[in-house]
Amino acid sequence: MRLPRSLHWRIALAYTALIFASLGIVSLYLVGFVRDTYIANLQDSLDRQAHLVSARVSGVLSDSRHSDAELQLLISDLGKVLDARVTVIGADGKVIIDSLQSSAQLPSQFGRSEVRAVLSQNLSTVAGVGSPLDGTFDGAMIYAVAPATIGQDVAAAVRVAVPVSRVQPDINRLIASIAVAAVLVGLLSVGAGYFLFRRTSRSVRAVTEGANRFAQGDLVHRVSETSSDEAQELAATFNSMADTIRSMLSDMSAESSKLTAMLDTMEDGVVVIEADGRITLMNSAAEWLLDISARDAVGARLVEALRDHEIQQVAALSLDTGQIRQTEVELLPHRRFLNAIATPLGGSSDNGILLTLHDLTADRQVENTLREFVTNVSHELRSPLASVKVMVETLEEGALDDGRTARNFLRRMNREVDRMNAMVEDLLELSRLESGHQLPSLTPLNLSALVSEVIVEYGGRVDEVAFHARLPQSPAIALGDRSKLRQVLVNLLDNALKNTESGSVEVSVNAEEGRHRVSVRDTGAGIAREHLPHVFERFYKVDRARRDGGTGLGLAIVQQIVQAHGGEICVESEEGRGSTFSFTVLRH
Ligand code: ADP
Repeated sequence: MRLPRSLHWRIALAYTALIFASLGIVSLYLVGFVRDTYIANLQDSLDRQAHLVSARVSGVLSDSRHSDAELQLLISDLGKVLDARVTVIGADGKVIIDSLQSSAQLPSQFGRSEVRAVLSQNLSTVAGVGSPLDGTFDGAMIYAVAPATIGQDVAAAVRVAVPVSRVQPDINRLIASIAVAAVLVGLLSVGAGYFLFRRTSRSVRAVTEGANRFAQGDLVHRVSETSSDEAQELAATFNSMADTIRSMLSDMSAESSKLTAMLDTMEDGVVVIEADGRITLMNSAAEWLLDISARDAVGARLVEALRDHEIQQVAALSLDTGQIRQTEVELLPHRRFLNAIATPLGGSSDNGILLTLHDLTADRQVENTLREFVTNVSHELRSPLASVKVMVETLEEGALDDGRTARNFLRRMNREVDRMNAMVEDLLELSRLESGHQLPSLTPLNLSALVSEVIVEYGGRVDEVAFHARLPQSPAIALGDRSKLRQVLVNLLDNALKNTESGSVEVSVNAEEGRHRVSVRDTGAGIAREHLPHVFERFYKVDRARRDGGTGLGLAIVQQIVQAHGGEICVESEEGRGSTFSFTVLRH
């Protein structure tokens, strides 16, 4: 805030008026004092003169031979010498002689208290200011009256007087000097005051400006502390306050950054909702889980920002009741399962609520996979078990006596048991691979030789299918576990053979950057587009009705082995034209 300019002027005017009023009062007192002192001094001097004159007059009067002319001469001489009006007043109050005027023209002076005081009360002198002897009011006189005695008796009163107007110029000069001095002092005081006021107001303005800049966010700005008065103290106090606020703000911002970092590294979503239903905070996990951006959501009302009705309801209920509410929701389109808990902040919903979102999708997937797995295993075991049971019952019911049938049944039962055994083996293998307990030992091996060996093994099995290999000129050396890679090849060739009634199967090895790509291509039945993404899933069979002895676990095991080797596997296929399974393995 800045003082308005008019206020500055008003303060300056008030200060000037105060200075001049004080000086006026002091000057008036001084003028009175000086004037009184001046007149008192004059009266003192007149007093002494009156004594001198009265002594001379007493001398003349005491001489019985004196003449009025002699007295007249003395008085007029003394009047001239003293430059004053000298008057001799008889004991009856009549003027005997006056240095300026004929005594006959002057009235009796007995009415004057000072004359009476000297003549009848025997006072040695009386001084004062009074009217002229002729009784007119034409200019006041300063006088002193002393008695003239003959022996012990007061014979006359001697009055020495000068007009006040005579001393007035001196007094006026004094008044003028005092006035000039007062004006000078006044101007000096006003000047000095204005200078001090300017300096102080400049410092105050600097502090005000500093406070303004601070309020606008400039936390680095500090006020200069160069002046040496209270303003410096003000500036120093302001600066220290600014330092404290800045350090508090930086502490708070560090705390807030820590909190934000913490919230953003949390896997659970966190949303803070005010009592009026507005969102004030949302961490990145919440953004991701709810599929909205915090920039849009913060400041918006919950019902506007959140699409899910159940979460809205759980938050609204918690806000209404001030109690913890919880729900599980499935969010589309990503099919995310969330556990949403709304907790009132600080124990009361007046402070808003905290909405935490825990992602249950993975847990649900595990549950589903487990459920599917149990269903699949039971399904796969049910048919061989059922046929074994039927055969056992048939044997019990008498077929055992028929040697040929019995042997046939036993052979078939043996096959079913082998199938179940193979499936259990496959499951165990898959479980070992998935748990990572049985990692393949990666050693250099001749991939070309391994491929040739498996091809030779398969080549003689079926006449309708031609097997051949396309290998690089120099042997392809890979890093891998020989028996596991052989298992992969055997599995892929087995599948190719099972799905190719007539045609060819080709195994090729190609060098790629840092790895070898092994492709098994057949010209068989191929796989329909809708099945392609699922062929590597456990128990997935393209044709469930076909009883070819497969468990649907082969490709899942192959994928696990390839991945454990640091490679990848993929399939390309066209229904009716054949399929190509290709995997990569690290080069040595
Ligand atoms: P299985 O052990 O039952 O063969 P797999 O996991 O090896 O199971 O194969 C999964 C499914 O993929 C099978 O149902 C099979 O029909 C299909 N399949 C695999 N290889 C081929 C191929 N080369 N041509 C056509 N279908 C194939």
